[in-house]
Parts: sequence; structure tokens; C-alpha cells
Amino acid sequence: MKEKTFVREMDGYTVYRMDEIVCLDDYLKDCVDVPKFEALCRSCPNYGQRWSCPPFAFDPMEIWQKYSRLHLVTHIFEPGIGQTVQGMLEAHRIEKEKMLELLMEMEAEQAGSMALWAGTCDLCPACAKAEGKPCRMPDKMRHSIEALGGDVGKTAELYFGYPILWIEGDKVPAYMTLMGGILYNE
Ligand code: SF4
Repeated sequence: MKEKTFVREMDGYTVYRMDEIVCLDDYLKDCVDVPKFEALCRSCPNYGQRWSCPPFAFDPMEIWQKYSRLHLVTHIFEPGIGQTVQGMLEAHRIEKEKMLELLMEMEAEQAGSMALWAGTCDLCPACAKAEGKPCRMPDKMRHSIEALGGDVGKTAELYFGYPILWIEGDKVPAYMTLMGGILYNE
């Protein structure tokens, strides 16, 4: 397991961070399979309903191939004693927003870079795509690693040693994961 750094203590959970910079050629070889994940995305309710999610009018490989490095940023949040499933879902919502802010700050600090968010874009309560309208914030919206065909589960294990865990029934997992990244050129 990669060493994790304490980020913050919240009410009911603790957040840790891990970073890894990977060569994009290696990452594409090991963790990106656009057709496979596009097919898996079809069973998600966001498929075809959000501009940040597949299917796209462009080939996701065109985005990956513009860059040479990926700075992976992973946040693990661990439940405190007595934490509930509902509490972990709320923690996920809060931490997703915080991670979005962090990734956009990192993107702004590195000219020419592009953030990959941890999950689908939910900047608007209801995405304009579902109404057949253009994205309301195309300058702000970013795609996630998985939307572009990246295997987040494999990435989490390969680079950080933390398999992705999720809530099962009323069982609170040992931790939950949010993973984003910054694409850039060296
Ligand atoms: S910014 Fe709004 S319209 Fe654009 S992808 Fe995100 S939720 Fe959809």
C-alpha cells in the first residue's frame, strides 16, 4: 500500500491523500480500454444523460493522446466509530465537491493541463443533456478518468494498493475512494 498523508478530520470520517505521477504511455497500456468501459457505462443511469459521460461525439483517445503525464490524486476517507451508511454517502458528496475544487486549483496552477474529475459532472441539478440542450458550463465541466475509458479499480490497486470498496447493504466499508487526475505535458 502506498503511504497516505492526513488531509483533514471531519465529523464522522477522516480524509487521507495519495499522489502518483505516471507516464501516459504506460497508463494507456495498463489501464485504459475505451470500448470496454464505454460498454460498461451503458448500464449506468448517467449514460447519454450527462455531457461529461459517454457516449461522446469524439474519441476519448484524442484527449489522452494530447498529454504525456497523468498526475493521479486519490483521496481515501475512513469512517469513524459509529459511522453509518448514510453518513458515508454524505461524506462522499462533500468530499467529491472538495476534490473538484482541489483538481481545478491544480489545473489552474499548471498551464496547458486538464483536470479529470472524480466521477460525473453534477454542477447543475439536472444536466442539460437530458433535455437535449448544450452544456451550460462547457468551460467548467471536465470528464472523469472512467468516462474516458480509464479503469479506476485497476488504477487504485496498481498505483496505490487500495482496492475500490463500496457500501454493501447496511455495511459501512473500511474506506471509500475518490480518484481524479491532472493530464499535462512535461
Ligand atoms: S455543467 Fe451542467 S450541463 Fe454541463 S455536463 Fe455538467 S451538469 Fe451537464
